[in-house]
Amino acid sequence: MKRQKSFANQASANALYVVATPIGNLEEMTPRAIDVLKSVDVIAAEDTRNTMRLLTHFDIHTRLISHHQHNEHTSAMGICKLLKEGKSVAIVSDAGYPLISDPGQIVSEMVIEAGYPIIPVSGANAMLNALVASGLPTQPFLFYGFLQPQEKDQLRELEKLKEYAMTLIFYEAPHRIYKTLDHMLQVFGDRRICLARELTKVHEEFLRGTIGEILTVCDECKGEMVLVVEGSTAHKTPEMNRAEIQACIDHYVAEGISHKEAIKRVAKENGLSKNDVYRQYHKSH
Ligand code: SAM
Repeated sequence: MKRQKSFANQASANALYVVATPIGNLEEMTPRAIDVLKSVDVIAAEDTRNTMRLLTHFDIHTRLISHHQHNEHTSAMGICKLLKEGKSVAIVSDAGYPLISDPGQIVSEMVIEAGYPIIPVSGANAMLNALVASGLPTQPFLFYGFLQPQEKDQLRELEKLKEYAMTLIFYEAPHRIYKTLDHMLQVFGDRRICLARELTKVHEEFLRGTIGEILTVCDECKGEMVLVVEGSTAHKTPEMNRAEIQACIDHYVAEGISHKEAIKRVAKENGLSKNDVYRQYHKSH
């Protein structure tokens, strides 16, 4: 077991700080993140040019080194060496938290193994913003990150996730969104979904609906995006009892809606599967 008390006995002197940076809106840079980036000896950045722009904006003049996917192992060893020399280091990525679909995993494991503290500095993150505004259940959730781009691999991944009852969160690129939603529709069925794009930026937008509905408009969606997908409801016990289900369906039917459509609506509005509602309704008839 390894135990870390981040702020006891100068523990933070030769620590690795994992610093979140804005995902669009620079006002989300926290005063603590600025202080930490000013006070550490070295900042290890995913893309030094991008980070330099951020540092210039906040008048930070700390030495910058490169720490990206393609040099992660060597750079992680370099960071451990700096910590050994008594230096403090911060890692940042282009946006949000390092390690969250971004480099940082290898260095964090090495630093813990070497016995130095890792101190997180809170800030913006795309998946949590998308989740809390999605309107879908926030707990439990599973953050998946990016799916594999190849069709066969992606379908295999989705098949594995199909039975999960928890809300699923994915990162996706705009040029792949149509195919990904199409695959989700094939594997998951027409679940509720929220596509959150350009979070914290002027074009921030949330598309809430079913996969099928969003599929028809997603070609217009540009920019950075997160998909929040309802978990499987296949084994969900209806929270409405049979009488309530029947009353809702009868209400819609009285308004002139077909039985089939009424069942679909009641299922969608209550997060139930159509089959469950159908079964409950027909048991009482
Ligand atoms: N480290 C980041 C975080 O903490 O969220 C994620 C970095 S990952 C390389 C980039 C992906 O995150 C994008 O392709 C997109 O799916 C998502 N993302 C990042 N910024 C976003 C934003 N402003 N709006 C929507 N999605 C965003």
